[in-house]
Amino acid sequence: MKATLVESHEIAPEVRHFVFQASEVQQLRFKPGQFVSFEQMLGGKKITRAYSIASLPAGNRFELCLNLVHEGHFSPHLFAMKPVDSVEMTDPLGFFVVRNPSKDAVFVATGTGIAPFRSMAPDYLKHPQAKELTLVFGVRHERTIYYRGEFESLVKQHSNFRFWPTLSRPEPSWKGRTGHVQLHLLEAIGERRDLDIYICGLKTMVDDVRAILKQLGFDRKQIIFEKYD
Ligand SMILES: Cc1cc2nc3c(=O)[nH]c(=O)nc-3n(C[C@H](O)[C@H](O)[C@H](O)COP(=O)(O)OP(=O)(O)OC[C@H]3O[C@@H](n4cnc5c(N)ncnc54)[C@H](O)[C@@H]3O)c2cc1C
Repeated sequence: MKATLVESHEIAPEVRHFVFQASEVQQLRFKPGQFVSFEQMLGGKKITRAYSIASLPAGNRFELCLNLVHEGHFSPHLFAMKPVDSVEMTDPLGFFVVRNPSKDAVFVATGTGIAPFRSMAPDYLKHPQAKELTLVFGVRHERTIYYRGEFESLVKQHSNFRFWPTLSRPEPSWKGRTGHVQLHLLEAIGERRDLDIYICGLKTMVDDVRAILKQLGFDRKQIIFEKYD
């Protein structure tokens, strides 16, 4: 099916929020956390890339959060798209979805790895049996805490939600958490070994967090992850 660009805007340097419409269907059905695969002929080659849906199901519209990979094949093409341009895409796919909303959970993201959690967090919190949810979000600078206002307002609406942004290159004025997500994950877990941990971002971070969790004695079924590269 076709995905038509409705609008896109910059949310941080070289990071854009995209709104697409799947005009051929009335409802784009997906579970929060799933991704779509875009496909395009570029330079004579068919290129396919996956993108996590960063919005809740709502008619045939869906949103993405992308960073530009300068030397990349596909992301520069998406960044150059204008409203009403379109791209081929698959139905939503993937198994990075909340397994059990009645279990306490920690979500761990770095950079645009926040995309699926923008859909999964409000969905999880909506569940009548939802318990404690902590989102640990690592970025470099304060201005790159994507969707900060939205997550902060979720905190105000849900006393069982904690939002912990952490900066790896904080400005002197920053009074919040600093350093890598790994450090704050340990605080979020404490002595608990009964949590589900969801991880999304680039391979180095995801593999590192998985190794820490395994060492702490977490079962592999409790570790749910999505790697972007
Ligand atoms: C299931 C899944 C969901 C994804 N969801 C998103 C998403 O929501 N937002 C998003 O921005 N990307 C996402 N990606 C990554 C995306 O599919 C592309 O890999 C990315 O846009 C780079 O593609 P490219 O063709 O421009 O670069 P390529 O030519 O494929 O690769 C260039 C280099 O960029 C590295 N790279 C890949 N992804 C990133 C990244 N995000 N940031 C920095 N370097 C990267 C690769 O390791 C490679 O070395 C997802 C990947 C998967 C598998």
